[in-house]
Amino acid sequence: MAGIIEKMRLDGKKGFVTGAARGIGKCTATAFAEAGADIAIVDLDLENAQKTAEEIADLTGQKVVSIQCDVTNEIQVNEMVESVVGQLGGLDFCHANAGICINAPAEKMTFTQWKKNLSVNLDSIFLTDTVAGRYMLSHGGGSIINTASMSAHIVNVPQPQCAYNASKAGVIQLTKSLAVEWAKRGVRVNCISPGYIGTDLTLSSPTLQPLIAQWNDMAPMGRLGKPEELESVCVYLAGDTSTFTTGSDFCIDGAFTCF
Ligand code: NAD
Repeated sequence: MAGIIEKMRLDGKKGFVTGAARGIGKCTATAFAEAGADIAIVDLDLENAQKTAEEIADLTGQKVVSIQCDVTNEIQVNEMVESVVGQLGGLDFCHANAGICINAPAEKMTFTQWKKNLSVNLDSIFLTDTVAGRYMLSHGGGSIINTASMSAHIVNVPQPQCAYNASKAGVIQLTKSLAVEWAKRGVRVNCISPGYIGTDLTLSSPTLQPLIAQWNDMAPMGRLGKPEELESVCVYLAGDTSTFTTGSDFCIDGAFTCF
């Protein structure tokens, strides 16, 4: 009889990760391939996506392809899912992870900035989930993982980011809505809500990087999370040991939102 580690493997499964050229998406894509899945690295940045795909293929020996796609563009998302199915031979799971953070005080935030943040962080999840979901609903089911944020639960300080916070709260409620709609039809939908994680989004941002010491002072663990600390939950959600898990939000934040 297979032990729990064998049961958690993703051998034979096919999936894609958006925003996978770097950061959290690169990390979960690597973990999915390490667990035995074939993977598509989906990103706006094709050059980095190609590098990441080669790196993961060399590391794991799995089939790893790269696909350029702006996840806010309906036509491109449809073509991307078609290309994943064509190149990998099916689609069992996906991680809708691409996102951006625009920091501006609400009274100075332009409507264009607001719409951009909502478009990349929330509209894209609707598009990715429904296009992938349509395929899964008609091909025996699947698992969808969305990246929300602890910012869906709390208002981060000191940086002002009302659009980001609102977009991520929307991701959780969209996740739950799709989970309920598709619960009897074999498609599960869950999300992760990371706390502050050390990626280019935080470490290389001229506005956010100077705030890290302050965030660490507020954090019960006194540090940022690492992208690797999110990967096992995503492998669990993509696989067959989580078949009763849908509509759940996994807050992985080192207890940041506990008080
Ligand atoms: P990152 O900036 O390091 O990587 C994001 C990737 O998404 C990049 O490769 C970028 O090219 C891609 N991308 C951006 N816009 C895109 C678009 N329109 N279409 C396709 N790809 C696009 O960010 P990260 O830290 O890895 O964050 C990944 C996700 O995790 C985001 O949704 C973010 O909001 C969320 N998150 C991050 C943190 C954190 O502290 N880093 C915390 C909570 C949630």
